[in-house]
Amino acid sequence: MEVLVHFSRMQASYLTFRLPVSLVCVLRRRMASDAVTRFDFLVIGGGSGGLAGARRAAELGATCAVIENNRLGGTCVNVGCVPKKVMWNTSVHAEYLHDHADYGFEGAQAHFSWQLIKNKRDAYVSHLNQIYRNNLDKARIQTIQGNARFTDDPEPTVEVSGKKYTAPHILIATGGHPSTVSDEDVPGASLGITSDGFFELESCPRHSVLVGAGYIAVEMAGILSSLGSKTSLIIRHDGVLRNFDALISSNCTKELENSGIDLWRNTQVKSVQKTEQGLNITLGTKDVKDKDAKEKTDRIQGVDCLLWAIGREPNTAGLNLSQMGVKLDPKGCIVVDEFQNTTRQGIYALGDVCGKALLTPVAIAAGRKLAHRLFEGKAESKLDYTNIPTVVFTHPPIGTIGLTEDEAIRSWGKTSVKAYTTSFTPMYYTITSRKTKCVMKLVCVGKEEKVVGLHMQGPGCDEMLQGFAVAIKMGATKADFDNTIAIHPTSSEELVTMR
Ligand SMILES: Cc1cc2nc3c(=O)[nH]c(=O)nc-3n(C[C@H](O)[C@H](O)[C@H](O)COP(=O)(O)OP(=O)(O)OC[C@H]3O[C@@H](n4cnc5c(N)ncnc54)[C@H](O)[C@@H]3O)c2cc1C
Repeated sequence: MEVLVHFSRMQASYLTFRLPVSLVCVLRRRMASDAVTRFDFLVIGGGSGGLAGARRAAELGATCAVIENNRLGGTCVNVGCVPKKVMWNTSVHAEYLHDHADYGFEGAQAHFSWQLIKNKRDAYVSHLNQIYRNNLDKARIQTIQGNARFTDDPEPTVEVSGKKYTAPHILIATGGHPSTVSDEDVPGASLGITSDGFFELESCPRHSVLVGAGYIAVEMAGILSSLGSKTSLIIRHDGVLRNFDALISSNCTKELENSGIDLWRNTQVKSVQKTEQGLNITLGTKDVKDKDAKEKTDRIQGVDCLLWAIGREPNTAGLNLSQMGVKLDPKGCIVVDEFQNTTRQGIYALGDVCGKALLTPVAIAAGRKLAHRLFEGKAESKLDYTNIPTVVFTHPPIGTIGLTEDEAIRSWGKTSVKAYTTSFTPMYYTITSRKTKCVMKLVCVGKEEKVVGLHMQGPGCDEMLQGFAVAIKMGATKADFDNTIAIHPTSSEELVTMR
């Protein structure tokens, strides 16, 4: 018996042979494992950067596929910006409750249900997952569910669940994951959770201990504390957000303490033990600046949530990148040039996996710029990584863009840098017993006083920053700020009236 066999490869001509049936079966099996599906653009990682790049490439006419091993939307949608902001909004409600009586709403009592907000938050995230899926389908982008790994084939090829895929342009946008501490380094460390685990908590912990001084640590400490968890924050040095402007670092450290968070400076977790009453956490405190200081040992008892927020690591481990000639830095991040090219031609990387400016809008913008370069012939299309505005959702929030005062001095010299600072009580708090300040700094350089940095912490600073970021990106000077009529009475008017 003879069978007609069609050898089919994308964009290849069809060949027809007459072969015995036994050979056909063998061939079919071989072809199933060897067959490579070909696209114009293959994206590994369905998060902020990958989805944005794929969708823009599809708009420009490229055939695309996105490989995702978890939920579409990546970190931001599932365990980052989105659920975090829902919880921050919730905690802002809790804060304002304290001011109700001061504003004449006496006897206002409220019972908080963590479960209610968690259910609503989870439903919103699931809805977003579905929207992302629909958007890919509408754009005719193939979604491939599974774990991607480069094969050893001579042409860059990716394997997912035994199937092979390739493209002349392959983008790695695999993001990162929270760093953890091993039980060998800190006995009992694995009894703690990370920011991913925070979003799985079914109730508000009675007593939380957070470890870390970066933005995720301070945001989560603020949320938990505002929602009624007794909160301790363990930091290795004497302040939080140490890579921010000194004004922000010192003010945020003060605000955390003022809000009732129990701050342990110069402290590290030595061990964690599980008891019937909760976790017992042994701490060692020693001033790192004082060489002769002796370490003091303390213990926090009855903790029901230990959260490690000690940084993030890139998702590069399982991709087989060393075989591909894709260079990694010592932290495992993918090395790219300003056009997101890796060291292997035809393979690109962007977003958190590159370890630079770990923010959703950065990954999105880099993905879109790359698509325009690859599929619209815009050879110079690349993301400008300077003056990226950032907000930290602390209580009150922080807004920052550009150089810190110290960075400006290092680049321009002390005599060329002038900083304008202000600190005031926003009008809202003039009639409340709960007080918080607003601090602001403008960093200016040269005779023309070009504004190269803006740093602020205070109520409303999160929403205040975007417009000022436009001005700074356009090269505004202090005189431009001064020439702008203030909006009264607001906190933002201070930024155009500083002297
Ligand atoms: C708690 C928290 C709060 C944050 N808050 C903010 C904020 O307020 N504002 C802000 O701008 N940014 C925030 N971020 C950062 C933001 O989430 C990231 O910068 C952004 O998601 C990075 O996008 P990405 O595309 O690089 O990676 P991701 O969004 O992480 O996407 C990577 C995707 O790749 C998938 N993947 C990984 N490996 C593979 C593989 N081998 N095969 C297939 N798929 C794979 C992952 O499952 C993931 O879905 C926050 C992050 C955290 C953790």
